Amino acid sequence: SDLENALRASIRTIKDYPKPGILFRDITTLLGEPRAFRRSVDELVHPYSGLRVSKIAGIEARGFILGGAMAHQLSAGFVPIRKKGKLPHHTVRVAYSLEYGVDEMEMHTDAVAEGESVILVDDLIATGGTAEGAVKLLRQMGANIVAACFVIDLPDLGGRKKLEDLGVQVRTLVSYE
Ligand code: 5GP
Repeated sequence: SDLENALRASIRTIKDYPKPGILFRDITTLLGEPRAFRRSVDELVHPYSGLRVSKIAGIEARGFILGGAMAHQLSAGFVPIRKKGKLPHHTVRVAYSLEYGVDEMEMHTDAVAEGESVILVDDLIATGGTAEGAVKLLRQMGANIVAACFVIDLPDLGGRKKLEDLGVQVRTLVSYE
């Protein structure tokens, strides 16, 4: 689509970052272009305007940028999901798988209430390990996950399928095969 092509043109690809052989999709260039940033946020929230979405949960760190803008657009609250040790109050914690090894992420226990409608957001979904961890935290607190949104999908890595198998609706804007 036109939109996908316009957004793709605003995303920079960095070879061999952070390690040799990796093509890193850099969205700082998209965020820096006023029209591309607005169109991304508008497109991510489009299906949910008029639905009563209570919170946007953003995954550290690029999910905070998109999620803050989405929350404002939907008049929703914002919930940060962070690497362990960064949140000051009582938290729930989950281990999640990375390409090599595991890490842990946390959310405040009072950040979402039982039955609240939440949209999850991050900049990119690859294997889906990170988003799966966030889904576990939100569901542990009884959230109803309306959708998980990402600017970029790397479909070959299977993340979308992993989330859909968990019963989560996935929305992405640009895909790189
Ligand atoms: P996953 O857990 O789905 O394998 O990896 C997704 C997570 O790693 C996201 O938090 C995302 O920000 C980060 N990530 C992995 N590869 C890339 C990339 O090429 N570009 C960007 N911007 N983030 C990436």
